[in-house]
Amino acid sequence: MTITSEAKQQSTRHVPQRTCIGCRAVKPKRELVRVVRTDTGSATVDVTGKAPGRGVYICKDKSCWDNALSKENIDRALRTKVSLEDRRELARYGDTLAG
Ligand SMILES: [Zn+2]
Repeated sequence: MTITSEAKQQSTRHVPQRTCIGCRAVKPKRELVRVVRTDTGSATVDVTGKAPGRGVYICKDKSCWDNALSKENIDRALRTKVSLEDRRELARYGDTLAG
């Protein structure tokens, strides 16, 4: 007689998924970095993932950050015009990531 533990292992918990604005891949939220538009209208990395404001998600992958920042991707996603300063700051964050 064989005992299968499959049923137990398949108790998949619901994991929140988000779309990366760099590559459009859908991934679990914790595998992405959140960028939030603050109430002052600037875009900044939200390391806590809990800052108020409109947020977008980007993979922990430099190429995704390049992609998100190169075109108007991030502006469109955040529905704002990201300033050059903020853009540089975000690019700097992207530079710290591998890939
Ligand atoms: Zn991505």
